[in-house]
Amino acid sequence: MAIAATICPTLTIHSTPKNLSKNSDHVPAPKSVSLLEMCKDMKELCQVHSQFIKSGHINDKFTVSRILALSALSDFGNLHYSRLIFYHISKPNSFIWNTMIRGCVQHGSPEEAILMYIQLLQSPISPNELTFPSVLKVCSQLQALEEGKQVHAQVTKFGFGSDGFVQNSLIHMYSMCHENCEARTLFDKSVRPDIVSWTSMVCGYAKLGMIDSAFELFEQMPEKNSVSWDALIFECSRLGRVEMVDSLFQRMPRRTLNSWNSMLFCHANFGSVLMARSLFDKMLERNEFSWHTMISAYVDNGLLEQGHQLFGQMPCRDVVAWHLILSGYMKQGEAEIAQNLFYEMPERNVISWNTMVAGFVRNSRFEEALLLFQEMQKVSEVKPNNWTLLSILSACTSLGALDQGQWIHAYIERNHIRKDAILGTALIDMYSKCGAMGKAQQVFHESTDKDIGMWNAMISGLGHHGHGREAIELLSEMLESNVKPNAITFVGLLSACSHAGLVDEGLRHFSLMSEVYNINPGLEHYGCMVDLLSRAGFLFEAKDFIESLPLKPSIKMWGALLTACMSYSNLELGEYAAKQLMELDPEDSGNYVTLSNIYASKEQWAKVVEVREEMKKKGLKKTPGCSMFTVNGFSYKLLVGDRSHDQREKVYSMLEEMGKRLKEAGHVADPTHVHLRLNTREKEIELAYHSEKLALAFGLISTKPGTRICIFKNLRICGDCHSAIKHLSKIYNREIVVRDQSRFHCFKDGSCSCMEFW
Ligand code: ZN
Ligand code: ZN
Repeated sequence: MAIAATICPTLTIHSTPKNLSKNSDHVPAPKSVSLLEMCKDMKELCQVHSQFIKSGHINDKFTVSRILALSALSDFGNLHYSRLIFYHISKPNSFIWNTMIRGCVQHGSPEEAILMYIQLLQSPISPNELTFPSVLKVCSQLQALEEGKQVHAQVTKFGFGSDGFVQNSLIHMYSMCHENCEARTLFDKSVRPDIVSWTSMVCGYAKLGMIDSAFELFEQMPEKNSVSWDALIFECSRLGRVEMVDSLFQRMPRRTLNSWNSMLFCHANFGSVLMARSLFDKMLERNEFSWHTMISAYVDNGLLEQGHQLFGQMPCRDVVAWHLILSGYMKQGEAEIAQNLFYEMPERNVISWNTMVAGFVRNSRFEEALLLFQEMQKVSEVKPNNWTLLSILSACTSLGALDQGQWIHAYIERNHIRKDAILGTALIDMYSKCGAMGKAQQVFHESTDKDIGMWNAMISGLGHHGHGREAIELLSEMLESNVKPNAITFVGLLSACSHAGLVDEGLRHFSLMSEVYNINPGLEHYGCMVDLLSRAGFLFEAKDFIESLPLKPSIKMWGALLTACMSYSNLELGEYAAKQLMELDPEDSGNYVTLSNIYASKEQWAKVVEVREEMKKKGLKKTPGCSMFTVNGFSYKLLVGDRSHDQREKVYSMLEEMGKRLKEAGHVADPTHVHLRLNTREKEIELAYHSEKLALAFGLISTKPGTRICIFKNLRICGDCHSAIKHLSKIYNREIVVRDQSRFHCFKDGSCSCMEFW
């Protein structure tokens, strides 16, 4: 829909004020001024300008105002040069002020135009009927209603309230700022509303979705030009009023390309692709927008082949069309096709690269996203922008690739890229999810413009690392900084309480949330509460809580209870929770596995077999435990007992050494964590090859002593690995971070940040 804006029929607002060249200090033109009329570019203008300086003509106000007008308003003009001229003029007259204000508008510096206007008000010169339309146009562009109202007050003060031209500018300003009532009052009082005012009013209503009012006024228009037809059709098409668009289109005396495009857009987005195509085929003239609309209609409806075919027929394929096709293939998971097309592109801009990087991230092909980013650095002149960096940071976060993430951070600093709140939030998220909480905190504290997203990222990061108290403290800091918490803040905070076992604090904040902050709890918040109660062992309370909810309980809630039943060996509730889960989500093998593990921990082997049989019947397979470890930008996946790796010899001998040193340190393997019917020795061997231990062994042999090791586990870390890694962090003097399915464990000096609460 973003491209909708590009078809907006450009209202040629106040096209040419009555007499723009009107110069109140008119002096007969010196002959040399005719030289100015011949200037074709800035170079020539500069030459004439310097001649005038030498000859002293420059002191003539008329001459200098002509130079300024050329420099500020002509096609080849230059705003910077105009400023230099302007600030050398002593006592500029109103013509000169107006020229500068218009120049700023024309050169896309609306804010500067407003500043100029303010300076004008402070000067001895008064604004006139030619000043206000430019200033009001800026207010419309910026949708700056407050400023617009002030200008309105000055219009009245300086006595231009009845000037038709100024009135029309005011009407346009108010309707662009969605102040339809004010616009209507002025419109009704207006002596001679011109076609632009009529059109502004009609569009103003249509933009607010008040199609009936828009239509009524449209019918009353004394004369309808194609701009007003186009504008109304455009607004109706944007709102998806297919029938209305059809009927307007039928009635239109002379159909323009804009109206055809609006028709096409409306049918493509709110009607059928077939109808859109038949319109497209009937169009006698098409512009890029027509092609883009039709291609994206195909792409959005998953008809990539047709979209691709049409793309091939496009007379001159522009970069937007390429992007539509690329992102279409990416959305459908066809990354290879997208990539091939990408390399066929004659020219790639930053959006092309971003489309690809984001596409890879979207398809969970994070490594390819990183590779492409590296390629962008090496082969392309194109510099990454904030969007590129955001996509890449999210790839790093998903991969747990702290090194790359850090590299991106350094890149941002090195290139003086402004760390806005969004980028800051992404960095915090990356650091905290890659286990580097200290770094996350550093980014947070260094940031000067913290928005709510950043506070939320920090609170939830602290929570995942088990720093519940700090998360609660951060909420107080947030309140002191006058940032109001929102629903997401509380998801982070409640889950922080849950991860740290702060049951009372959790309950207290849960009630504060609605009572003090007026936030109604949603499914996510209830989920956190179930998690909080379950983890802390209040299993029956958790069950009652779930069953008393005003909303349908989520799979996650029963899942949290089931997991807790395994930790607390509660068979009765475990069976109950598993039953609910199997009804809600019969395809998830994890629930069966957990239930079977509960039976195994109670040595009820017959039940274990029963559950496994049930799984087999349903064709469900256990998700194998898998750990990931990233070194030098490459990430390695290791499964339980994995021997596929090319360094397996070294890894397995390291594993053996780890086993020995663990024994020496007094670690006893805990066979209750093996839910298979094996003898104790067999269970010990089984435990020794858990994927997180393999990943750790690999980490120890492939990094320098003292380096922090970060491991990602797809399931929950098991109790035996947890206690073994605690010892190993001390034995090898390493900080070891394990991110599992639900939280972070930061092992250091023989203990874990989770304080055994997980
Ligand atoms: Zn384990
Ligand atoms: Zn832990």
